[in-house]
Amino acid sequence: MSGCVFCKIVAGEIPANIVKRADGLLAFEDQHAQAPTHLLVIPTTHVGSLNDAKDAAALGKLLAFARDVAREAGIATKGYRVVLNTNPDGGQTVFHLHLHGPGGRTMKWPPG
Ligand code: AMP
Ligand code: ZN
Repeated sequence: MSGCVFCKIVAGEIPANIVKRADGLLAFEDQHAQAPTHLLVIPTTHVGSLNDAKDAAALGKLLAFARDVAREAGIATKGYRVVLNTNPDGGQTVFHLHLHGPGGRTMKWPPG
């Protein structure tokens, strides 16, 4: 989708530190990391938000991919968090569905 920053990363039009690719999925480092490890996991086709996601199986693959990426990043055993911000009250600022995978430190609860 034109104008979408994450679609531009998928297309290679803007740089990103890509850590893993799979069929229809991409993981890369968040440019404003909130933890020692902070990865973003996205579908390579544009979906605006969780509200727009129609394919439950694809959502399952996205989540499993985030789990695999966390494992390969070495944060799985100690623990990590998966965050999916949806729309403005949920804190979403990039309107291309993505999971945050922060880890490498102890997470606080509740989130703000
Ligand atoms: P959210 O607020 O849940 O929509 O999260 C969007 C995330 O995307 C933020 O944590 C940003 O730091 C991150 N972000 C935005 N643009 C880029 C980019 N070009 N490369 C990597 N991460 C980005
Ligand atoms: Zn997009």
